[in-house]
Order: sequence, then C-alpha cells, then structure tokens
Amino acid sequence: MAARSSYDVVIAGGAVIGSAVAWWLTRLGTKRVLVVEPDPTYARAATALSAASIRQQFSQPVNVAISRFGIAFLRRAAAWFDRAEGDNPLALRENGYLLLAGGVAGAAALQAQTAIQRAQGAETELLAPDALGTRFPWLDPAGVTLAAFGPRGEGWFDGMALLDLFRRGARAAGVTYVADRVTGFDRVGGRVSHARLRDGGRVACGQVVVAAGTRSAEIAATAGVALPVEPRKRTVFLIDAPALRGVAAPLTVDPSGVWFRPEGQYWLAAAPPDPDPAVDPADFAPDHAAFERDLWPVLAARVPGFAAIRARNAWAGHYDFNTWDANALLGPHPACPNLHIAAGFSGHGLQQAPAIGRGIAELILHGGWQALDLAPLATARLAEGRRLREAAII
Ligand SMILES: Cc1cc2nc3c(=O)[nH]c(=O)nc-3n(C[C@H](O)[C@H](O)[C@H](O)COP(=O)(O)OP(=O)(O)OC[C@H]3O[C@@H](n4cnc5c(N)ncnc54)[C@H](O)[C@@H]3O)c2cc1C
Repeated sequence: MAARSSYDVVIAGGAVIGSAVAWWLTRLGTKRVLVVEPDPTYARAATALSAASIRQQFSQPVNVAISRFGIAFLRRAAAWFDRAEGDNPLALRENGYLLLAGGVAGAAALQAQTAIQRAQGAETELLAPDALGTRFPWLDPAGVTLAAFGPRGEGWFDGMALLDLFRRGARAAGVTYVADRVTGFDRVGGRVSHARLRDGGRVACGQVVVAAGTRSAEIAATAGVALPVEPRKRTVFLIDAPALRGVAAPLTVDPSGVWFRPEGQYWLAAAPPDPDPAVDPADFAPDHAAFERDLWPVLAARVPGFAAIRARNAWAGHYDFNTWDANALLGPHPACPNLHIAAGFSGHGLQQAPAIGRGIAELILHGGWQALDLAPLATARLAEGRRLREAAII
C-alpha cells in the first residue's frame, strides 16, 4: 500500500529516469513524491540491461548539451552523493567513442555532426584513415573514409550504481517507493486526478510522470494520450578475446553499425538488428544466432585480434524506441497538462538521466526549463508535427 492517499507527484517507473526525477525533486524542493515500481530487482528494466555508455557524438545540439551536463554530473558523483572526495562510485571510464564512417556520404555526415558537437563545446576530433591506423594500431582502417573520436567526456560507467545512488538518495530525502504497478490514470477536467495502482487502490496526485520505459505508451494511453514509443530488441554479447587483453579501446562503432567496447577483461559487442521490428515487451530471448551471422564477421575484419573469440554470455534488452524521431519525449502532453512524459529515449537514456531528471523536476516545480533548455524535446512536438530526428542512433 502507498503510505498516503495523496502526493504532489506520482512517478510511474522507478528505474534510472524515474529515480533521477524523484531525486532532483527532493533537491529542488518537494518530498511528497510517490514512485511506483513493480519490480524492485529491475531485472528487465533497460537500465539494468544497458551498455551504460556516454558520448557527446550526437547530431542534435540538445543531445550534445544533455551529455555534457551528464558527464559533468558523473564526474562529480562523489560530491553529489556525499561520498569521500576521490571516490569514483560510478566506475566512470573515459575511454572515448570512435565512430567510423564509410563512403563519401558517410564521411560528410560525420563531418557535419562533428561541427555541431564542437559548436556545443565537445572536443570531437576527425581522423583520416592513416591517422586512425596510427592512433589505434589494433584496428584495420580498410574501407573507412573518416573517423570521429571524442578523447574526453565519453566512455562508460556503472548504470545500476547510478540508479542505486538516485534511488537511495531520493528515499533518504523522504520519497516513498512502493512495489506496485500503475494500471491507469483517472482524469477530471482534462487533468489526471488519480493514479490507479494494481494493489494500492487510487492515489490522488498533483502531477504525474510517466517514466516506464517500453511500457510508457500503454500507461499514457489510459489518460487518453498516444505515444509513439515501442519496444525494440537489442542482443548484447560478452566476448572473450585473449589477443586483445589490456587494449584500452574506445567504444567503437563500425560503419556497419556493429559496436564493441572493453568490459573489464572482456568485451561487449552488438549488431543492430535488420529488420528492427517492434517486439513483445515480455520477449527477452537473446538472438544467439546474431553472433555468427552478424557480429563475428565484422569484428574479425575490423580488428584482427577478434579473429579468435568466444561468446561467454548474451542478453537481450529493449530500447524504448520513439518512432516519431528517435529522441526523448519530455514534459506535459498538450492534451493533459499535468501528465509529464519522460520516455522514448531510443537507446540513449541512461547517459541522459542526470539532465532529464533535473529538467522534469524544474518543469514540475518551477514551470519551465532552467539548467538546460530542453524545449526541443518537448512532448508537444508530436501535436505540432515537429520532428527532431537524431541521426546518431547506435
Ligand atoms: C542493450 C541496451 C544498450 C543500451 N545502451 C545504452 C548506452 O550505452 N547508453 C545510454 O545512455 N543508454 C543505453 N541504453 C538505453 C538506456 O538503458 C535506457 O534509455 C534507460 O535505461 C531508460 O531508463 P528508464 O528508467 O526510462 O526505463 P527502464 O530502465 O526500462 O525502466 C522502466 C521501469 O518502469 C517500470 N514499469 C513498467 N511498467 C510499469 C507500470 N505499469 N507502472 C509502474 N512502473 C512500471 C519497469 O519495471 C521499469 O523498472 C541501452 C539500452 C539497451 C536495452
């Protein structure tokens, strides 16, 4: 049961986005917050199944700004969460991202994106194929026309540790977490008046945040709001590559879309599915065949050290994919002004959590964006017919 029958803010979904919103709400001034999360183990949340990497290399300025906020936040995690100075509670590793382009058009697109990133303050460097081979001698630059490398502000971290810090911090500051499921919203006069919980009855609420990942569309639909968010499956492989032990590589994205990065003594790697249909949100069966079919041939050709490798493990997770423009939908839906959306992250939500949590909290408490102008990502763009297409989807 929820501790009270009425809250200022009810948040549906308590993984990294919902918990970031809750934590920032307490920092900015309200504690009467209820987070409804059906699975406190988070076993199937994208947050737990993520590659948990952060990059500045996006095509939309607002996404670059969000990641610049994100990396500054991650670097200062010890201070934000009252840890000893010098602690690295998120195990942040800034190995960078390396994006490889093929063909003339690929090189032109990379060049254009890099200019956008640099205008936002990112330090992305362009590398011609010979410079690429010199800088990363373990990599074969054959067929690459241009590469972009972010030497600072990009890398990976412990995503579950970030969730844990937000969640513990929110609870310590007075937020209530309940192991329950939002089954729907009741509306009165165009606004949500109550959240209905599977076990906890009806809870009156001033504001609502939908942060339920791939389940966000079905929840929003109960308030009469249609969201273009659907689950898209991604299978990630944990790979043992003995010849590459100790290579401090960046997260590298091949022109084919195959990506790989070190993970301790092993490597993570995945191939983008083609086709990439919407899937049953309960289908978490890894596509084991993708290893031989899509992944290994590309890896072995690009990095000779991947010729003799073994898949040690594989898992599948879901992107909450926004089919409208592959970017987050943030803030109130025009048809329901106290229903705030924080969904549709399309594979880049973990790194965005610090900025999105803050932005949604500002919107709820102060009525506008403050630290960052997130207006380009407003949910209202659906009604306006405005698309903010993100080209750099991994
Ligand atoms: C394989 C993979 C790799 C990724 N790699 C990266 C990466 O490198 N960098 C990056 O930034 N992002 C990455 N992402 C994306 C990132 O993980 C997600 O964008 C982010 O975790 C989304 O967080 P969330 O809290 O919105 O959703 P989720 O983590 O999916 O959490 C949603 C929560 O809502 C809860 N819920 C569901 N239904 C209800 C209901 N009815 N009522 C209440 N709660 C409900 C669920 O139990 C769940 O805990 C990746 C994702 C995947 C799958």
